[in-house]
Amino acid sequence: MSNKPNVERARRRRDNVAPPPVRRALLVVVSAPSGGGKTTLCERLLKACPAMTYSVSCTTRPPRPGERNGRDYHFLAPEEFARRLRRGEFLEHAVVHGHHYGTLRAPVWRALRAGRDVLMDIDVQGAAQIRRAARHAPRNDLLRRGFVDIFVAPPSLRVLKSRLTARKADSPAVIARRLRNARRELRRWKEYSFLVINDRLETAFMQLKAIVEAAHCRVENQSVGKRGRP
Ligand code: ADP
Ligand code: 5GP
Repeated sequence: MSNKPNVERARRRRDNVAPPPVRRALLVVVSAPSGGGKTTLCERLLKACPAMTYSVSCTTRPPRPGERNGRDYHFLAPEEFARRLRRGEFLEHAVVHGHHYGTLRAPVWRALRAGRDVLMDIDVQGAAQIRRAARHAPRNDLLRRGFVDIFVAPPSLRVLKSRLTARKADSPAVIARRLRNARRELRRWKEYSFLVINDRLETAFMQLKAIVEAAHCRVENQSVGKRGRP
């Protein structure tokens, strides 16, 4: 067996050097009204941060053209969703636009424990559930230490409507319902720690990435050496 770690420890003691800071995992929660740009921004963030894992939610809504089971969502029948809910498999869950959505507990914990950042695209109700859990968790808990919540807002409701229409993913009735919900969701932006206005995509993306980088630099996300230095 190599004695390299011992040699390294001895060198550090001799040189009075603390171990390098450990990069601790973040749980990044992004919410926005439908059409606000979460999917677009999250996809770009995942490309820019290869070590980040996307939390694939479960939903009872039908897949849209181009969506793949297991990649975009786990598409479940209502009975299967209810069964998993009864078994306590969800970290959070909510009814959004008339369908059930939920985040599975196990994959999130697996990724956080492995030191991988987790990115979640969930609605304001789900974000509130995780925020509450993070606040009540013990001080050193992974959920509490790594929790970062970001609200993405469109520049206006008029722009939101035109983006939803241009996306051509939903019928006019579904778009009308999503716009009604958007008014309600937009009122809750102050519950979040960060707000990004998605006007110019490039600016919004830069802000989102900067928030994640800053969260990694937060003091509570650094390990501290014996002599109180990072
Ligand atoms: P969400 O996932 O929040 O429902 P999407 O990411 O699907 O929203 O974005 C809705 C539509 O708006 C998509 O067609 C997307 O290409 C477009 N879009 C997103 N952000 C911008 C932006 N900053 N400027 C113009 N169009 C945008
Ligand atoms: P869509 O059907 O457009 O993909 O998503 C509709 C809404 O459901 C969005 O606001 C999205 O953030 C939210 N959503 C997606 N997955 C989850 C989840 O696991 N939990 C909760 N609470 N909301 C989710």
